[in-house]
Amino acid sequence: MTDQVDTLFTRIIKREIPAEIVYEDDLCIAINDIAPQAAVHVLLIPKQQIPRLADATESERAILGHLMLVAGDISRQLGVDEAFRLVVNNGADAGQTVFHLHLHILANPKDSKQFSESDIGI
Ligand code: AMP
Repeated sequence: MTDQVDTLFTRIIKREIPAEIVYEDDLCIAINDIAPQAAVHVLLIPKQQIPRLADATESERAILGHLMLVAGDISRQLGVDEAFRLVVNNGADAGQTVFHLHLHILANPKDSKQFSESDIGI
């Protein structure tokens, strides 16, 4: 959040745009996706603006590891730690629409409405 133009997610982090926040710490925030493609569809977003996973460098090693551990924490918090998926779309041709790195945490607990993989374009 320095001289870069704020992304949609940075504006959510700054509370300029509302979102359903399910987790937050000093390094990242997790929100419910506005257009869920599964019963549980959470976006886990580093507060640091990294446009794409492929843009991450050695200096981002710690935050990338942190995101993985937090994804596990959130899965336990939401009761889906036995069955969830992590998706990162990297690049427009892979379906990335917001150029601020984020992990999709997707799960369909057995008692919830099921979405097929084609619903989420992967
Ligand atoms: P991607 O296509 O991988 O870049 O993912 C971007 C995601 O952001 C999509 O799943 C969108 O539904 C989601 N999204 C867009 N705007 C918002 C918003 N205001 N609040 C929560 N999620 C959003």
